[in-house]
Amino acid sequence: MSTVVDVDGLVVRYGAATALDGIDLFVDAGELVALIGPNGAGKSTLVNTLAGILAPAAGRCEVRGRLAVVPEGREVFPDLSVDDNLRLGGWRNGRGGRDTSAIYDLLPDLVRVRRQRAGSLSGGQQQMVAVGRALMARPDVLVVDELSLGLAPLVVADLVRHLRELNSERGIAVLLIEQNARLALDLCTRAYVLEAGRVVLHGPSAELAGSEQVAAAYLGGA
Ligand code: ATP
Repeated sequence: MSTVVDVDGLVVRYGAATALDGIDLFVDAGELVALIGPNGAGKSTLVNTLAGILAPAAGRCEVRGRLAVVPEGREVFPDLSVDDNLRLGGWRNGRGGRDTSAIYDLLPDLVRVRRQRAGSLSGGQQQMVAVGRALMARPDVLVVDELSLGLAPLVVADLVRHLRELNSERGIAVLLIEQNARLALDLCTRAYVLEAGRVVLHGPSAELAGSEQVAAAYLGGA
């Protein structure tokens, strides 16, 4: 199986502050992988390094194939229509001419709001737009940064269903960065726990969900 994300001994610093302190992580083609951890653990730093925005101070951070990011906070353009938001996703990736119909096939809920201002949509709909915009790049791996933040459980469940479909039907690998560990472990087959810039645990989700350490810190002691 080919590896789409290969991170090896990665160190990333902001000035003198070390945000990622030698992390190893991989995502194979078609895999669903979670990265969980508290605020300040270094999750966004990893996303930005994968996206090429930050440079490693040491180690390796390789993406093989196309990577698209659904950013934390969604970052849709509020004054543009849903359709134009999607087009910008293609444009940023040098695919300006690509039409959006494939995205509406994948995310049919967006069809009836396609001409609306993205800023007028609900948080869940905006997250769907952010996913659609990322899909315009035809990614091999989708990095989703805080899918569930600020969204109601039913809305999150719908988004999770779409991610599952994109994975199972289109073979898109997903790296899900989540503070909601239960959701992440439920969706993904493998998971990494990041704390203070280090991977402190990793393994099959079922194993992590059963670990006392994870349960105490991330699953409300359940
Ligand atoms: P959150 O969930 O709050 O976004 P996170 O897990 O994504 O947290 P990061 O944002 O990657 O964590 O931050 C990792 C560490 O790097 C933290 O200690 C943070 O204070 C520090 N940090 C992040 N951005 C910068 C920056 N621009 N300059 C200096 N330090 C930073």
